[in-house]
Amino acid sequence: MKPVFALVGRPNVGKSTLFNRLTKSRDALVADFPGLTRDRKYGQGVLGTDNNEIERDYLVIDTGGLSGDDAGIDEYMANQTWLAVDEANTVLFMVDGREGLTPADHLVADRLRKAGKTVYLVVNKTDAVDPEQAKAEFYQLGFKDVFAIAAAHGRGVTSMIEKLLEKF
Ligand code: GDP
Ligand code: MG
Repeated sequence: MKPVFALVGRPNVGKSTLFNRLTKSRDALVADFPGLTRDRKYGQGVLGTDNNEIERDYLVIDTGGLSGDDAGIDEYMANQTWLAVDEANTVLFMVDGREGLTPADHLVADRLRKAGKTVYLVVNKTDAVDPEQAKAEFYQLGFKDVFAIAAAHGRGVTSMIEKLLEKF
């Protein structure tokens, strides 16, 4: 089975930043305001060996984001996100380690549980905080595997991908 990772989470948690890092593209728009990626976006990720050979490849899907409330202006984005979840075999549920746990994160967590996919919790933006401490409060969302990364700087990203790919 080819690994297909969907990046899911509230707007602005760093999904497109991680997508760009994994696919080494500048395609996914990254911005300080939410909602720029409205459709889902596909990219190819590669895990290299020490001598720059391709060891594994996988697909990444960037999404516009979920606010927890699927109605109204967010409805289109939310629908696109759930389509991405359907297409994926693994969901990377991203949250913002600087901002901390929000009510919307709880709503997204509940919906993701019902989707019946393998979900890993990814606490992003842990560049200026202690990663272990940043992760702690997010365990209450109920996901067993929690990674701390800083997508903007790349910290924790490769080791996370290596661990995820071991499952395939
Ligand atoms: P998206 O809406 O989830 O796709 O979020 P973006 O990827 O567009 O990022 C939103 C903002 O968070 C941008 O200003 C990014 O530069 C910033 N950001 C993303 N990853 C990190 C990180 O690891 N650390 C910090 N400090 N900022 C980040
Ligand atoms: Mg985005």
